[in-house]
Amino acid sequence: MSWFKQLFGKKEVLQTPLFFFNTLGKEKQLFEAAPHTKEVRMYNCGPTVYGRQHIGNLSMFVFTDTLRHTLEYNDFKVKQVINFTDFGHLSSDADEGEDKMTKGLKREGLAPTLDNMRALGEKYANLFLEDIRALNIEVDKVTFPRASDFIPAQIAMIKALEEKGYAYKTKRGVYFDTSRFPDYGKLGNINLEGQKEGARIGKDPEKRNPIDFLLWKNDKKLGWDSPWGKGFPGWHIECSAMIRATLGLQIDIHTGGIEHIPVHHNNEIAQSESATGKKPLARFWLHRAHLQLEGAKIAKSEGNVVYLSDIIERGFHPLSLRYLLLSAHYRTSANFTWEALGAAQTAYAKLLAMRLKSQKVSPPGFSQTTLAWKQKFTERINDDLDTPGALAVLWEMTKDEELPSEELLAALLDFDSVLGLNLSEPDEAARRLAATETKKEITLDSLPEDIRTLIKEREEARENKDWPRADELRTKIENLGYALEDSASGTRVFEP
Ligand SMILES: [Zn+2]
Repeated sequence: MSWFKQLFGKKEVLQTPLFFFNTLGKEKQLFEAAPHTKEVRMYNCGPTVYGRQHIGNLSMFVFTDTLRHTLEYNDFKVKQVINFTDFGHLSSDADEGEDKMTKGLKREGLAPTLDNMRALGEKYANLFLEDIRALNIEVDKVTFPRASDFIPAQIAMIKALEEKGYAYKTKRGVYFDTSRFPDYGKLGNINLEGQKEGARIGKDPEKRNPIDFLLWKNDKKLGWDSPWGKGFPGWHIECSAMIRATLGLQIDIHTGGIEHIPVHHNNEIAQSESATGKKPLARFWLHRAHLQLEGAKIAKSEGNVVYLSDIIERGFHPLSLRYLLLSAHYRTSANFTWEALGAAQTAYAKLLAMRLKSQKVSPPGFSQTTLAWKQKFTERINDDLDTPGALAVLWEMTKDEELPSEELLAALLDFDSVLGLNLSEPDEAARRLAATETKKEITLDSLPEDIRTLIKEREEARENKDWPRADELRTKIENLGYALEDSASGTRVFEP
């Protein structure tokens, strides 16, 4: 437990109930530990590692990290697993389209072999870890199983389903028989008739029901040996098998994107509960809405995509993105724009400046004023992770003149154990950002003509995405004794 958490005697703070919106039941429900344990077993569907993950994908893991922190803030221990899909995920979750890993191999000019697939997965899993580390996600506390390391566990689960009469063979592979699972589609109360309509396209004539899905896909050229011949486990079975192998027969929380509700997560439930006979697979199902980009769907195929590296290249701190993501609720479809990122960065810089102004943290034993703020913050975050509400409480607290500065600092650090903005140990880039807040701003009109010209040139370079030129001009301007910050309203200039 962190030192600043110990500062707040638990008895002094009112117990605030923790609520999550559970897709299973479609309502906010009180979250409590399973009997006889304080440990929460949580599984987050992870990335398919065939390419770099865009900020929409990354936003999922800022959400799961904040969820982890919220549980810890409520004194739960958390065992968290995020899987890497490194084979067998077809473009459509409903067993159609091209295999994503094969697509990745083609793109990189690599032959379709298991070794190459493994290496491709390794490369993009590492890039993903690098990105989420930059977003201050606590990678070291999470287990990251790779699907290709769990082939025997997946085969064993398919065999168990076959033995219990839940599976049947066709020329294409092995299917799960959804007619044997009456609860199918319960998660999110999905419209099965609609799915059946959609499943007509590319229908396998041997399929018993349109919504049956593949547990094993035959492939003569590439794959692993199994009792059904050479091939791959279907995409859905990997999560069921890895949950069982890493967390046990039943878990407390399962998360994913809202796109996982109709097919992938209903399939996971059907497979796991049929194979193990234990219901439910997960007590709570939390789903994150999609992040939009400039008001539209993030679509790599249409070039509407932003990576974390783009954000860093443009001079933004990666945690400004985390701040931006926290400023919208996880169940709303938040919109990423460069202007919004600029505004988030300004707010983050203010927060950093406030944190760095005072180094002294107050001794244990807080005033009632601070405890009242902590209470308000907890009420927001415990209400289904209301992060925008929690940030509003934080800003309101900073305006409280009755709060001594050392208590303000301790409270900021305490809140940050949930928000994850790394206020406890800001890095060099964050310190530079904070410095722009304490420096005196110079209006463009009062700058010498030659500096103004350089700033204009740099803005043009940025508009043309000529980042090397923009960086060169920044250095030139800084060497002339000015500091720059890119904001929503354009370049801001400061005294050094
Ligand atoms: Zn999954």
